[in-house]
Amino acid sequence: MPELPEVETIKRDLQKVILGKKITEVCVHNPAVIRQPAAAEFIRSLKGATIKNILRRAKLLIFELSNGKFLTIHLKMTGQLVFPGGGKNSRVVFHFSGGSAMDFNDQRLFGELRVVGDWKKLKFVQTLGPEPFDLTYANFRNMLSKKKTKIKPLLMDQSFISGIGNLYAAEILFRAKINPVKSAQGLTETEKARLYQEIQEVLTNAIKHGGSSVDDYVRLSGKRGDYARFHQVYGRINKPCFICKTKIQRVTQGGRGTYFCPKCQK
Ligand SMILES: [Zn+2]
Repeated sequence: MPELPEVETIKRDLQKVILGKKITEVCVHNPAVIRQPAAAEFIRSLKGATIKNILRRAKLLIFELSNGKFLTIHLKMTGQLVFPGGGKNSRVVFHFSGGSAMDFNDQRLFGELRVVGDWKKLKFVQTLGPEPFDLTYANFRNMLSKKKTKIKPLLMDQSFISGIGNLYAAEILFRAKINPVKSAQGLTETEKARLYQEIQEVLTNAIKHGGSSVDDYVRLSGKRGDYARFHQVYGRINKPCFICKTKIQRVTQGGRGTYFCPKCQK
């Protein structure tokens, strides 16, 4: 699933090409992805509106429209935005004045498209924890001290901190030299500080490289993100650790595969 770096990359890609464009037509080929309002009303609220700005909150893309409404897109598992588009296999195609189009593709139909009056009032948005880049170290340290949960699922808990998923949680913990099964409260001061620093660094670098194309994620142009070549543990089961040569292990935590080096991550 695309995480903060992938969604941020798409946001920045979109800002370069669709700001100021007017939506002339919306073709909904599969209404299952339109969550709010019903497809006909969804189309009506978009037609004629100009895209004023693109925002991101956690893994959610938010299109600010000239009619005061917001189009929100959650890519979930297999959602993709492609520009220039106009593809026949797309779930939804947004046509713009001037003849260009943007496709929303989604093989598994878990994606969620909405038009709303105020995106901040979405129930899911109200449960979100802070954005990693808005979080101070003092706050983060304080948040950790209240949690008995294991650190890896905690990093993936969107109500604790938003935007981090399975892939980046594993990469961050490897670089911070923290075993994913440790409890948040049990981290030493050094570990807490390293963890905070690695959250910032890993996410910043991943954005710099356009995110990680490991599953369906591609950039707006269809190009792959380039960060996967910097992965240290994710998807590397039984391969030697780049630091100590120990075989990378995979354990299951909360139904998700967790990759880590048993020697580097104590
Ligand atoms: Zn190692």
